[in-house]
Amino acid sequence: MPEGDSLHRAAAKLQPLVGQRLEVTAPHPRGASVAERLDGRQLEAVRAVGKNLLLTFEGGLVLRSHLRMQGRWQVRPRGKPVAGRPWLVLRGDELEALQWNGPVLELGERTLSRLGPDILAEPPDLDAMLARLRREPQERELGDTLLDQRVVSGIGNVWRAEALWEARLSPWLRLAAADDDELRSLLSWCSERMRASAAGVRTPRRVYRRAGRPCPRCGDRIASRGQGDANRTAYWCPGCQRGDSAPAA
Ligand SMILES: [Zn+2]
Repeated sequence: MPEGDSLHRAAAKLQPLVGQRLEVTAPHPRGASVAERLDGRQLEAVRAVGKNLLLTFEGGLVLRSHLRMQGRWQVRPRGKPVAGRPWLVLRGDELEALQWNGPVLELGERTLSRLGPDILAEPPDLDAMLARLRREPQERELGDTLLDQRVVSGIGNVWRAEALWEARLSPWLRLAAADDDELRSLLSWCSERMRASAAGVRTPRRVYRRAGRPCPRCGDRIASRGQGDANRTAYWCPGCQRGDSAPAA
């Protein structure tokens, strides 16, 4: 079947979810950062454009799904048990849509602005990521920048917290105060652990959602604070992660 046809059929199947506020989950880690940003938003439109399926959500977020040969969308009554690990599950009132395999699933603003290099690419383009980090204003906070999909795509809030802890860098550290080797090893760790996680190997959480508990490395109390325009919660250990402290509330 020609690719375009299956895309238009998928778009048609998804139409009943338009206008609904969706619960979005990601059984597969590949969809985790997307699910975090879309959960609870209203789906405004679904259309097939070229070889892409574009799902527009309230707030101007556009999910682009490029299925190539192996990806597919499945729509069915809500609430049946899920066998396997779809990348995304979008649950409406009566129906749910499951997205299986990609290879491309990315979230952009209205214009599908250029995304940074994919952290899950094999091999990851660490040089390009580093170049983009250095192109940002260097007074930007590292933690905020890591979630900026224009700089590096695919790092969600959990991995931001864990990678910064592993690298012993505070989310509040200014880019200017981190050297290239530190940034490169942070990105490399993140890419390795995220790909391992996609293959089913768990990385224990050291700081994410552990505010107030002792740091497993130094015993200091783990802190948390909203960061950046989107106010996503950053978790860090002030005892062993180098950098500025959080701004006063
Ligand atoms: Zn610590």
